[in-house]
Amino acid sequence: MIREIAVIGSGTMGNGIAHVFAQHNFKVTLIDINVAQLEKAIATIAKNLERQIAKGTSTEEQKAITLNNIITSTDINRGVKNALLVIEAATENADIKLNIFKQLDETAPADCILATNTSSISITKIAAVTKRADKVIGMHFMNPVPVMKLVEIINGRETKKEVTNAIVELSKQLEKIPCVVNDAPGFIANRILMPMINEAIYSLHEGVAGVASIDTIMKLGMAHPMGPLQLADYIGLDVCLNIINVLYDGFKSEKYAPCPLLINMVNNGKLGVKSGEGFYIYQPGNKDLTVSPQFK
Ligand code: NAD
Repeated sequence: MIREIAVIGSGTMGNGIAHVFAQHNFKVTLIDINVAQLEKAIATIAKNLERQIAKGTSTEEQKAITLNNIITSTDINRGVKNALLVIEAATENADIKLNIFKQLDETAPADCILATNTSSISITKIAAVTKRADKVIGMHFMNPVPVMKLVEIINGRETKKEVTNAIVELSKQLEKIPCVVNDAPGFIANRILMPMINEAIYSLHEGVAGVASIDTIMKLGMAHPMGPLQLADYIGLDVCLNIINVLYDGFKSEKYAPCPLLINMVNNGKLGVKSGEGFYIYQPGNKDLTVSPQFK
């Protein structure tokens, strides 16, 4: 039974994944090449546990147990040596991920499952750099991990059924809802979400409607919790552009061509929440949603 795991990459997703496993009594080694990032990750997990305590969904005792279940390391080889599952959540860059998987294949125990949290890189391609393609799988958590219920599980071409079943069971142990899909550009989540966001940007670009109208129509008309332009700001416009380009390249279809406005905004450093401006403007302490002056 899997009780000991390693998470590679301690950024936005890695700290959330470590948090959720540790909270469910798994022993977690959280690995990053950047020590400051590891320290920040532990502080973020502690802050998010405090938030759960304030909401009444956790206790001081559970917080202490959760933090105690996590150790950090900058040494990938030592960090994975007892793991039966490694989840890679490093930077979304194919070369970085392929190198990590080559290294993991050499150092992780032979029966260890190697999972990736990639949003868009082919699982089959990642698996192909290892000698255990049958034990490589996508385990795509959603942001923020402690809150979002879905885990999109992606079978590579050679993933064994027992491996998929083990990851499905594990996701349920984390009180998540797993959905299994097959490897294709964007999998399911981003294959459907990103063209919708791109279409919303095209509608704005063509002057069919303004930012607020597009988002309100999708929120109130389709019961989406957030409009597509606000969601794009939240995800990061650079991340959206990368994923749309993965669909465009993967399917070789004009249907997925990124909107010129999106390309322009990314070139111009308007990346959404993280840069302070996208379709809306974001200022510390201001909770009101204000449309960027560019679109007024
Ligand atoms: P991030 O930039 O916040 O964190 C990435 C971390 O990886 C950094 O701390 C970096 O130091 C570390 N890293 C880079 N190279 C490394 C290496 N060789 N070994 C160990 N650590 C290394 O990124 P993120 O947003 O957490 O995304 C991580 C993965 O999760 C990506 O594949 C991304 O596509 C996917 N994802 C992201 C989201 C999201 O909303 N952010 C949602 C779902 C999936």
